[in-house]
Amino acid sequence: MIIAPKIRGFICTTAHPEGCAAHVQEQIDYVKSQPALANAPKRVLVVGSSTGYGLASRIALAFGGQAATVGVFFEKEGVENKTASAGWYNSAAFEAAAAQEGLYAKSFNGDAFSNEMKQRVIAAIKADLGQVDMIVYSLASPRRTDPVNPEIVYKSVLKPIGSSFTNKNLNTDKKLIETVTIEPANEDEILQTTKVMGGEDWKLWIEALSAGGVLAPGFKTVAYSYIGPKLTWAIYTEGTIGRAKLDLEKAAAEMNGQFGAGTALVSVNKALVTQASSAIPVVPLYISLLYKVMKAKGLHEGCIEQMVRLFATHYGAPNGPTLDEKGRVRIDDWEMRAEVQDEVAKVWDSVTTENLDEISDFAGYQKEFYRLFGFGLAGIDYEKDSDPVRPIPSLG
Ligand code: NAD
Repeated sequence: MIIAPKIRGFICTTAHPEGCAAHVQEQIDYVKSQPALANAPKRVLVVGSSTGYGLASRIALAFGGQAATVGVFFEKEGVENKTASAGWYNSAAFEAAAAQEGLYAKSFNGDAFSNEMKQRVIAAIKADLGQVDMIVYSLASPRRTDPVNPEIVYKSVLKPIGSSFTNKNLNTDKKLIETVTIEPANEDEILQTTKVMGGEDWKLWIEALSAGGVLAPGFKTVAYSYIGPKLTWAIYTEGTIGRAKLDLEKAAAEMNGQFGAGTALVSVNKALVTQASSAIPVVPLYISLLYKVMKAKGLHEGCIEQMVRLFATHYGAPNGPTLDEKGRVRIDDWEMRAEVQDEVAKVWDSVTTENLDEISDFAGYQKEFYRLFGFGLAGIDYEKDSDPVRPIPSLG
Protein backbone atom coordinates (compact mmCIF):
# COMPACT_ATOMS: atom_id res chain seq x y z
CA MET A 1 0.00 0.00 0.00
CA ILE A 2 1.00 3.66 -0.34
CA ILE A 3 1.49 4.90 3.20
CA ALA A 4 0.84 8.56 4.02
CA PRO A 5 0.59 10.34 7.37
CA LYS A 6 -2.87 10.53 8.95
CA ILE A 7 -2.89 13.07 11.75
CA ARG A 8 -5.57 12.99 14.45
CA GLY A 9 -4.98 15.82 16.93
CA PHE A 10 -1.56 15.20 18.43
CA ILE A 11 -1.05 11.69 17.07
CA CYS A 12 -0.39 10.15 13.71
CA THR A 13 -2.38 6.96 13.16
CA THR A 14 -0.14 5.60 10.41
CA ALA A 15 3.59 4.84 10.27
CA HIS A 16 5.98 4.11 7.43
CA PRO A 17 8.11 0.92 7.73
CA GLU A 18 11.05 2.08 5.57
CA GLY A 19 10.86 5.58 7.07
CA CYS A 20 10.96 4.23 10.63
CA ALA A 21 13.87 1.98 9.66
CA ALA A 22 15.72 5.02 8.26
CA HIS A 23 15.04 6.92 11.49
CA VAL A 24 16.50 4.03 13.51
CA GLN A 25 19.48 3.78 11.14
CA GLU A 26 20.22 7.53 11.55
CA GLN A 27 20.42 6.96 15.30
CA ILE A 28 22.66 3.91 14.87
CA ASP A 29 24.94 5.91 12.52
CA TYR A 30 25.19 8.70 15.09
CA VAL A 31 26.18 6.24 17.83
CA LYS A 32 28.79 4.65 15.57
CA SER A 33 30.25 8.08 14.77
CA GLN A 34 30.98 8.54 18.49
CA PRO A 35 33.70 6.83 20.55
CA ALA A 36 32.71 3.41 21.92
CA LEU A 37 31.11 3.63 25.38
CA ALA A 38 33.52 3.02 28.25
CA ASN A 39 32.45 0.81 31.19
CA ALA A 40 29.31 -0.07 29.27
CA PRO A 41 26.84 -2.63 30.63
CA LYS A 42 26.84 -5.77 28.50
CA ARG A 43 23.37 -7.18 29.27
CA VAL A 44 20.61 -4.61 29.25
CA LEU A 45 16.83 -4.61 29.76
CA VAL A 46 14.95 -1.60 28.39
CA VAL A 47 11.32 -1.25 29.51
CA GLY A 48 9.67 1.07 26.96
CA SER A 49 12.23 0.37 24.23
CA SER A 50 10.33 1.10 21.00
CA THR A 51 10.23 4.90 20.70
CA GLY A 52 11.68 8.10 22.16
CA TYR A 53 14.19 7.92 24.99
CA GLY A 54 13.85 4.15 25.52
CA LEU A 55 14.61 3.33 21.88
CA ALA A 56 17.56 5.73 21.93
CA SER A 57 18.84 4.07 25.13
CA ARG A 58 18.63 0.64 23.49
CA ILE A 59 20.43 1.87 20.36
CA ALA A 60 23.14 3.69 22.33
CA LEU A 61 23.92 0.70 24.56
CA ALA A 62 23.75 -1.88 21.75
CA PHE A 63 25.72 -0.07 19.08
CA GLY A 64 27.91 2.05 21.40
CA GLY A 65 28.58 -0.62 24.02
CA GLN A 66 27.94 -3.92 22.18
CA ALA A 67 25.26 -4.79 24.72
CA ALA A 68 22.85 -7.69 24.39
CA THR A 69 19.42 -6.08 24.82
CA VAL A 70 15.98 -7.20 25.89
CA GLY A 71 13.26 -4.69 24.98
CA VAL A 72 9.68 -4.42 26.24
CA PHE A 73 7.04 -2.26 24.55
CA PHE A 74 3.34 -2.00 23.76
CA GLU A 75 2.86 -1.56 20.03
CA LYS A 76 0.34 -2.43 17.35
CA GLU A 77 1.22 -5.00 14.69
CA GLY A 78 0.51 -4.19 11.04
CA VAL A 79 -1.99 -6.17 9.00
CA GLU A 80 -2.87 -6.10 5.32
CA ASN A 81 -3.97 -2.53 4.49
CA LYS A 82 -3.32 -1.21 8.01
CA THR A 83 0.06 -0.04 9.24
CA ALA A 84 1.69 -1.03 12.50
CA SER A 85 2.51 1.67 15.05
CA ALA A 86 5.88 3.39 14.64
CA GLY A 87 7.41 1.58 17.62
CA TRP A 88 6.67 -1.76 15.98
CA TYR A 89 8.58 -0.82 12.82
CA ASN A 90 11.37 0.78 14.91
CA SER A 91 11.78 -2.47 16.83
CA ALA A 92 11.78 -4.60 13.67
CA ALA A 93 14.48 -2.33 12.19
CA PHE A 94 16.49 -2.34 15.41
CA GLU A 95 16.50 -6.14 15.51
CA ALA A 96 17.55 -6.44 11.88
CA ALA A 97 20.46 -4.04 12.43
CA ALA A 98 21.48 -5.78 15.68
CA ALA A 99 21.44 -9.18 13.95
CA GLN A 100 23.74 -7.86 11.24
CA GLU A 101 26.29 -6.91 13.90
CA GLY A 102 25.89 -10.20 15.73
CA LEU A 103 24.26 -8.47 18.71
CA TYR A 104 21.71 -10.37 20.80
CA ALA A 105 18.29 -8.68 20.81
CA LYS A 106 15.00 -10.03 22.14
CA SER A 107 11.73 -8.13 22.22
CA PHE A 108 8.42 -8.46 24.07
CA ASN A 109 5.22 -6.75 22.97
CA GLY A 110 2.61 -6.42 25.69
CA ASP A 111 1.76 -4.78 29.00
CA ALA A 112 4.92 -4.02 30.98
CA PHE A 113 2.80 -3.21 34.04
CA SER A 114 1.60 -6.82 34.29
CA ASN A 115 3.16 -9.53 36.45
CA GLU A 116 2.93 -11.92 33.53
CA MET A 117 5.19 -9.75 31.34
CA LYS A 118 7.74 -9.47 34.14
CA GLN A 119 7.82 -13.27 34.48
CA ARG A 120 8.18 -13.81 30.73
CA VAL A 121 11.11 -11.38 30.58
CA ILE A 122 12.78 -12.98 33.61
CA ALA A 123 12.49 -16.43 32.00
CA ALA A 124 14.11 -15.14 28.80
CA ILE A 125 16.95 -13.43 30.68
CA LYS A 126 17.56 -16.63 32.66
CA ALA A 127 17.61 -18.77 29.54
CA ASP A 128 19.64 -16.50 27.25
CA LEU A 129 21.73 -14.06 29.29
CA GLY A 130 21.77 -15.34 32.87
CA GLN A 131 21.60 -11.84 34.33
CA VAL A 132 21.28 -8.16 33.42
CA ASP A 133 23.66 -5.35 34.41
CA MET A 134 21.47 -2.38 33.49
CA ILE A 135 17.72 -1.80 33.48
CA VAL A 136 16.45 1.31 31.70
CA TYR A 137 12.89 2.20 32.69
CA SER A 138 11.38 4.47 30.04
CA LEU A 139 7.63 3.93 30.04
CA ALA A 140 5.23 6.71 29.12
CA SER A 141 1.62 5.63 29.24
CA PRO A 142 -1.79 7.21 29.70
CA ARG A 143 -3.04 4.26 31.78
CA ARG A 144 -2.01 1.27 33.87
CA THR A 145 -3.96 -1.87 34.66
CA ASP A 146 -3.35 -2.87 38.27
CA PRO A 147 -1.19 -6.01 38.24
CA VAL A 148 -3.10 -7.68 41.09
CA ASN A 149 -6.66 -6.43 40.48
CA PRO A 150 -6.97 -6.13 36.69
CA GLU A 151 -10.44 -4.64 37.00
CA ILE A 152 -8.73 -1.47 38.33
CA VAL A 153 -7.33 0.76 35.58
CA TYR A 154 -5.47 3.90 36.67
CA LYS A 155 -5.53 6.85 34.29
CA SER A 156 -2.97 9.61 34.23
CA VAL A 157 -3.95 13.23 33.64
CA LEU A 158 -1.87 16.28 32.78
CA LYS A 159 -3.32 18.90 35.09
CA PRO A 160 -2.13 21.57 37.50
CA ILE A 161 -2.55 21.09 41.25
CA GLY A 162 -4.27 23.60 43.56
CA SER A 163 -5.51 26.20 41.09
CA SER A 164 -6.39 26.41 37.42
CA PHE A 165 -3.67 27.27 34.92
CA THR A 166 -4.04 29.60 31.95
CA ASN A 167 -1.31 30.07 29.38
CA LYS A 168 -0.50 30.14 25.71
CA ASN A 169 -0.80 26.85 23.89
CA LEU A 170 0.14 25.81 20.40
CA ASN A 171 -2.50 23.87 18.53
CA THR A 172 0.01 21.87 16.48
CA ASP A 173 -2.66 20.49 14.16
CA LYS A 174 -4.16 23.85 13.19
CA LYS A 175 -0.95 25.86 13.74
CA LEU A 176 -2.68 28.35 16.02
CA ILE A 177 -1.57 30.01 19.22
CA GLU A 178 -4.51 29.77 21.58
CA THR A 179 -5.08 30.40 25.25
CA VAL A 180 -5.69 27.28 27.27
CA THR A 181 -7.14 27.01 30.75
CA ILE A 182 -6.78 23.74 32.59
CA GLU A 183 -8.71 23.08 35.77
CA PRO A 184 -6.79 21.63 38.72
CA ALA A 185 -6.71 17.91 39.39
CA ASN A 186 -8.55 16.41 42.33
CA GLU A 187 -6.84 14.11 44.85
CA ASP A 188 -7.94 10.96 43.03
CA GLU A 189 -6.48 12.18 39.73
CA ILE A 190 -3.17 12.96 41.45
CA LEU A 191 -3.12 9.48 42.95
CA GLN A 192 -3.99 7.77 39.68
CA THR A 193 -1.34 9.72 37.71
CA THR A 194 1.23 8.69 40.33
CA LYS A 195 0.14 5.05 39.97
CA VAL A 196 0.75 5.24 36.20
CA MET A 197 3.84 7.44 35.86
CA GLY A 198 5.38 7.15 39.37
CA GLY A 199 7.94 4.71 40.71
CA GLU A 200 5.76 1.81 41.86
CA ASP A 201 6.05 -0.24 38.69
CA TRP A 202 9.78 0.54 38.28
CA LYS A 203 10.36 -0.86 41.77
CA LEU A 204 8.12 -3.87 41.06
CA TRP A 205 10.29 -4.65 38.01
CA ILE A 206 13.52 -4.48 40.00
CA GLU A 207 12.09 -6.55 42.87
CA ALA A 208 10.75 -9.17 40.44
CA LEU A 209 14.12 -9.36 38.65
CA SER A 210 15.83 -9.67 42.04
CA ALA A 211 13.47 -12.44 43.19
CA GLY A 212 14.05 -14.17 39.86
CA GLY A 213 17.80 -14.12 40.51
CA VAL A 214 18.64 -12.30 37.28
CA LEU A 215 20.23 -9.11 38.61
CA ALA A 216 24.02 -9.05 38.24
CA PRO A 217 26.05 -7.94 41.25
CA GLY A 218 26.52 -4.16 41.01
CA PHE A 219 23.62 -3.77 38.54
CA LYS A 220 22.32 -0.28 37.77
CA THR A 221 18.90 1.05 36.88
CA VAL A 222 17.84 4.42 35.51
CA ALA A 223 14.45 6.09 34.89
CA TYR A 224 13.76 9.38 33.15
CA SER A 225 12.26 12.62 34.41
CA TYR A 226 11.76 16.22 33.37
CA ILE A 227 11.83 19.56 35.19
CA GLY A 228 11.92 22.42 32.67
CA PRO A 229 11.50 26.17 33.12
CA LYS A 230 9.09 28.07 35.37
CA LEU A 231 6.70 28.76 32.53
CA THR A 232 5.75 25.07 32.31
CA TRP A 233 5.94 24.29 36.04
CA ALA A 234 2.21 24.68 36.73
CA ILE A 235 1.39 22.04 34.14
CA TYR A 236 4.46 19.85 34.54
CA THR A 237 6.78 19.97 37.56
CA GLU A 238 4.16 21.27 40.00
CA GLY A 239 1.30 19.43 38.29
CA THR A 240 0.10 15.83 38.39
CA ILE A 241 2.97 14.50 36.25
CA GLY A 242 5.50 16.29 38.50
CA ARG A 243 3.95 14.53 41.50
CA ALA A 244 4.44 11.22 39.71
CA LYS A 245 8.08 12.13 38.99
CA LEU A 246 8.61 12.89 42.70
CA ASP A 247 7.36 9.38 43.38
CA LEU A 248 9.91 8.09 40.86
CA GLU A 249 12.66 9.80 42.90
CA LYS A 250 11.24 8.28 46.09
CA ALA A 251 11.37 4.83 44.47
CA ALA A 252 15.00 5.43 43.45
CA ALA A 253 15.89 6.32 47.06
CA GLU A 254 14.12 3.20 48.36
CA MET A 255 15.89 0.95 45.85
CA ASN A 256 19.23 2.50 46.78
CA GLY A 257 18.44 1.50 50.37
CA GLN A 258 17.58 -2.04 49.28
CA PHE A 259 20.29 -2.67 46.69
CA GLY A 260 23.10 -0.23 47.53
CA ALA A 261 23.79 3.48 47.01
CA GLY A 262 23.97 4.54 43.38
CA THR A 263 22.06 1.51 42.06
CA ALA A 264 18.95 3.45 41.00
CA LEU A 265 19.14 6.89 39.44
CA VAL A 266 16.72 9.33 37.93
CA SER A 267 18.07 11.15 34.90
CA VAL A 268 16.45 14.50 34.12
CA ASN A 269 16.34 14.74 30.33
CA LYS A 270 15.77 17.50 27.82
CA ALA A 271 12.32 18.39 26.44
CA LEU A 272 12.04 16.70 23.05
CA VAL A 273 9.39 15.88 20.50
CA THR A 274 8.15 12.36 21.25
CA GLN A 275 4.74 10.73 21.12
CA ALA A 276 4.43 11.31 24.87
CA SER A 277 5.48 14.98 24.99
CA SER A 278 3.28 16.07 22.09
CA ALA A 279 0.26 15.27 24.26
CA ILE A 280 1.22 17.72 27.03
CA PRO A 281 -0.46 21.15 26.87
CA VAL A 282 1.93 24.15 26.49
CA VAL A 283 4.98 21.88 25.98
CA PRO A 284 4.90 21.83 22.11
CA LEU A 285 5.04 25.65 22.05
CA TYR A 286 7.86 25.66 24.58
CA ILE A 287 9.74 23.03 22.51
CA SER A 288 9.27 25.05 19.30
CA LEU A 289 10.80 28.13 20.96
CA LEU A 290 13.49 26.11 22.72
CA TYR A 291 14.63 24.37 19.51
CA LYS A 292 15.09 27.72 17.77
CA VAL A 293 17.28 29.05 20.59
CA MET A 294 19.28 25.84 21.12
CA LYS A 295 19.88 25.29 17.40
CA ALA A 296 21.10 28.90 17.02
CA LYS A 297 23.55 28.34 19.87
CA GLY A 298 24.72 24.96 18.53
CA LEU A 299 23.37 23.25 21.67
CA HIS A 300 20.50 21.24 20.17
CA GLU A 301 20.34 17.51 20.87
CA GLY A 302 17.80 14.79 20.00
CA CYS A 303 17.02 11.62 22.01
CA ILE A 304 20.06 9.77 20.67
CA GLU A 305 22.55 12.57 21.44
CA GLN A 306 21.06 12.82 24.95
CA MET A 307 21.36 9.07 25.56
CA VAL A 308 24.92 8.90 24.27
CA ARG A 309 25.78 11.74 26.63
CA LEU A 310 24.09 9.92 29.53
CA PHE A 311 25.92 6.64 28.96
CA ALA A 312 29.26 8.12 27.83
CA THR A 313 29.76 11.18 30.03
CA HIS A 314 27.91 9.98 33.13
CA TYR A 315 27.83 6.17 33.31
CA GLY A 316 31.12 5.94 31.41
CA ALA A 317 32.99 8.22 33.85
CA PRO A 318 35.51 6.45 36.11
CA ASN A 319 33.62 7.66 39.21
CA GLY A 320 30.17 7.17 37.74
CA PRO A 321 27.48 9.77 37.06
CA THR A 322 27.73 13.33 38.36
CA LEU A 323 24.66 14.08 40.48
CA ASP A 324 22.81 17.26 41.47
CA GLU A 325 21.96 18.20 45.07
CA LYS A 326 18.95 15.88 44.95
CA GLY A 327 20.94 12.92 43.66
CA ARG A 328 19.74 13.15 40.05
CA VAL A 329 21.66 13.08 36.76
CA ARG A 330 21.09 16.31 34.81
CA ILE A 331 21.35 15.97 31.04
CA ASP A 332 18.84 18.82 30.81
CA ASP A 333 21.79 21.06 31.76
CA TRP A 334 22.15 22.63 28.29
CA GLU A 335 18.40 23.30 28.07
CA MET A 336 18.42 24.89 31.52
CA ARG A 337 21.38 27.22 30.90
CA ALA A 338 20.43 30.81 31.77
CA GLU A 339 21.44 32.05 28.30
CA VAL A 340 18.96 29.59 26.74
CA GLN A 341 16.10 30.10 29.20
CA ASP A 342 16.38 33.93 29.17
CA GLU A 343 15.90 33.94 25.40
CA VAL A 344 12.98 31.52 25.49
CA ALA A 345 11.27 33.60 28.20
CA LYS A 346 11.80 36.77 26.14
CA VAL A 347 10.01 35.40 23.06
CA TRP A 348 7.32 33.54 25.01
CA ASP A 349 5.34 36.74 25.68
CA SER A 350 5.49 37.95 22.09
CA VAL A 351 4.76 34.73 20.18
CA THR A 352 1.52 34.79 18.18
CA THR A 353 -0.03 32.74 15.37
CA GLU A 354 1.24 35.36 12.92
CA ASN A 355 4.89 35.43 14.00
CA LEU A 356 5.16 31.72 14.93
CA ASP A 357 7.26 30.79 11.90
CA GLU A 358 9.58 33.69 12.43
CA ILE A 359 10.34 33.48 16.13
CA SER A 360 9.92 29.77 16.80
CA ASP A 361 11.18 26.58 15.18
CA PHE A 362 7.68 25.23 14.58
CA ALA A 363 8.90 23.90 11.24
CA GLY A 364 11.54 21.90 13.11
CA TYR A 365 8.96 20.72 15.64
CA GLN A 366 6.63 19.53 12.92
CA LYS A 367 9.38 17.87 10.92
CA GLU A 368 10.50 15.98 14.01
CA PHE A 369 6.89 14.98 14.78
CA TYR A 370 6.45 13.47 11.30
CA ARG A 371 9.81 11.72 11.55
CA LEU A 372 8.61 9.93 14.72
CA PHE A 373 6.24 8.06 12.41
CA GLY A 374 8.75 7.53 9.62
CA PHE A 375 7.68 10.41 7.37
CA GLY A 376 9.96 13.01 5.82
CA LEU A 377 13.16 10.96 5.93
CA ALA A 378 15.75 11.47 3.25
CA GLY A 379 16.09 8.71 0.65
CA ILE A 380 12.63 7.18 1.16
CA ASP A 381 10.28 6.98 -1.81
CA TYR A 382 6.90 7.65 -0.22
CA GLU A 383 5.10 7.05 -3.54
CA LYS A 384 6.29 3.46 -3.60
CA ASP A 385 4.20 0.52 -2.40
CA SER A 386 5.20 -0.60 1.08
CA ASP A 387 4.18 -3.79 2.89
CA PRO A 388 2.67 -2.84 6.29
CA VAL A 389 3.30 -6.35 7.66
CA ARG A 390 6.82 -6.57 9.11
CA PRO A 391 7.83 -9.32 11.50
CA ILE A 392 9.86 -8.72 14.63
CA PRO A 393 11.86 -11.97 14.51
CA SER A 394 12.64 -12.48 18.20
CA LEU A 395 9.23 -11.57 19.63
CA GLY A 396 8.79 -13.59 22.81
P1 NAD B 1 7.48 7.57 24.20
O1 NAD B 1 6.00 7.73 24.09
O2 NAD B 1 8.31 7.86 23.00
O3 NAD B 1 7.86 6.07 24.68
C1 NAD B 1 7.09 5.34 25.58
C2 NAD B 1 7.48 3.87 25.56
O4 NAD B 1 6.68 3.19 26.54
C3 NAD B 1 7.21 3.15 24.22
O5 NAD B 1 8.23 2.22 23.97
C4 NAD B 1 5.89 2.40 24.49
O6 NAD B 1 5.70 1.25 23.69
C5 NAD B 1 6.11 2.02 25.94
N1 NAD B 1 4.88 1.70 26.66
C6 NAD B 1 3.83 2.50 26.98
N2 NAD B 1 2.92 1.82 27.68
C7 NAD B 1 3.38 0.56 27.82
C8 NAD B 1 2.90 -0.62 28.46
N3 NAD B 1 1.75 -0.65 29.13
N4 NAD B 1 3.66 -1.74 28.38
C9 NAD B 1 4.83 -1.75 27.70
N5 NAD B 1 5.35 -0.66 27.10
C10 NAD B 1 4.62 0.48 27.17
O7 NAD B 1 7.90 8.47 25.44
P2 NAD B 1 9.23 9.25 25.87
O8 NAD B 1 8.98 10.70 25.67
O9 NAD B 1 10.46 8.62 25.31
O10 NAD B 1 9.18 9.02 27.44
C11 NAD B 1 9.95 8.06 28.13
C12 NAD B 1 10.29 8.60 29.51
O11 NAD B 1 11.10 9.78 29.35
C13 NAD B 1 9.06 9.03 30.33
O12 NAD B 1 9.29 8.70 31.68
C14 NAD B 1 9.06 10.53 30.15
O13 NAD B 1 8.41 11.22 31.21
C15 NAD B 1 10.56 10.81 30.14
N6 NAD B 1 10.96 12.13 29.58
C16 NAD B 1 10.49 12.56 28.37
C17 NAD B 1 10.86 13.82 27.92
C18 NAD B 1 10.36 14.35 26.59
O14 NAD B 1 10.46 15.55 26.37
N7 NAD B 1 9.87 13.52 25.71
C19 NAD B 1 11.74 14.62 28.66
C20 NAD B 1 12.24 14.13 29.86
C21 NAD B 1 11.83 12.88 30.34
